[in-house]
Amino acid sequence: MEFCPKCGAMMLPKEGVLKCNSCGHEKNLSDKNEYEVSEDIKESDNVKMLGEDVEIRSTIKETCPECGHDEAYYELKQTRSADEAPTRIFTCAKCKHTWRAYH
Ligand SMILES: [Zn+2]
Ligand SMILES: [Zn+2]
Repeated sequence: MEFCPKCGAMMLPKEGVLKCNSCGHEKNLSDKNEYEVSEDIKESDNVKMLGEDVEIRSTIKETCPECGHDEAYYELKQTRSADEAPTRIFTCAKCKHTWRAYH
């Protein structure tokens, strides 16, 4: 929640800016956008950390250790050096539990 620095009234988001309900003072939303972007990065940190060279995603018959569901999304992450085995990442299609397997 943002409040107007001029009159203290509540400011509402409108067309990319925050606009004061009361006096019409406008504030750019760029600060807030930056915050939202960093939140997104935080959520996908685990995946991004593994390297981004190769990404293959499909569904595979794999039992989820969390809920026992037998279908999972399958991702293959190839690390930068070719002689290292790729990391396999499973995401449960039902409960979204994620786990990894190293070959
Ligand atoms: Zn105001
Ligand atoms: Zn599951």
